[in-house]
Amino acid sequence: MRIDVCGVGIDNVTMDEAVARAMELLRGSETAYAVTPNAEIVWEAMHDPALRDLINEAALVLPDGAGVVLGARILGTPLKEKVAGIDFAGRLMAAMAQSGHKLYLLGSKPGVAEEAARRCVEKYPGLQICGTADGYFQDEGPVVEAINASGADAVFVCLGAPKQERFMKAHQQELHAHFLIGLGGSLDGFAGNVKRAPEWMIRCNLEWLYRLVKEPRRLGRMMRLPKFILAVRKEARRRK
Ligand code: UDP
Repeated sequence: MRIDVCGVGIDNVTMDEAVARAMELLRGSETAYAVTPNAEIVWEAMHDPALRDLINEAALVLPDGAGVVLGARILGTPLKEKVAGIDFAGRLMAAMAQSGHKLYLLGSKPGVAEEAARRCVEKYPGLQICGTADGYFQDEGPVVEAINASGADAVFVCLGAPKQERFMKAHQQELHAHFLIGLGGSLDGFAGNVKRAPEWMIRCNLEWLYRLVKEPRRLGRMMRLPKFILAVRKEARRRK
């Protein structure tokens, strides 16, 4: 079931349910794409109908952050749990290592996807990473061809929002892989370039604070979070 958070439909799934659904889509006969909006992206989608459509048309919309979960609760339609994109990606890689499906890593600066691939194969023995490419290309055609030539079943599209959502939608028909997912800066995380917050901070929903301290340039983007909460409160009053 989808929960409407200010016009953006978020799938009310647990991590286990999300992984099961992704495996189903991987085994399906068509190309599906998944998105992982956090509160900043939902705020953007509230003001950008094209981005909102890209999100709402996805086969799977994961609640990527504590802000989205809080927003749904304020609206009186709580989500089961947060499903962070990077954690989901880890769980999916573990499942793909078992099932033998092939994964392509696209995005981040040159060299990052290769290092992420090296570390992920070490962490998830049996995982088949069939190709990598950085996210700073001019022409999308050759990238699509390379992904198809690799025989990928799934693609982690890590170009940042909304570039990754646009890429997935634009090439959904041409790509042979059955499951595409937009995962922002996850490859930087898998490559060890960006550290996750300590476990206790993640548990206390303070991961955003850790990222802000580590990367103060994010402040402008993060100011969308309080704006999002205010908008949600207004929407909750309107719905009463
Ligand atoms: N990126 C890219 N191509 C671009 C712009 C960005 O591959 O043209 C990558 C960038 O290197 C980074 C990711 O997209 O790895 C965006 O990361 P960010 O932390 O901004 O995304 P978030 O996880 O916050 O959505």
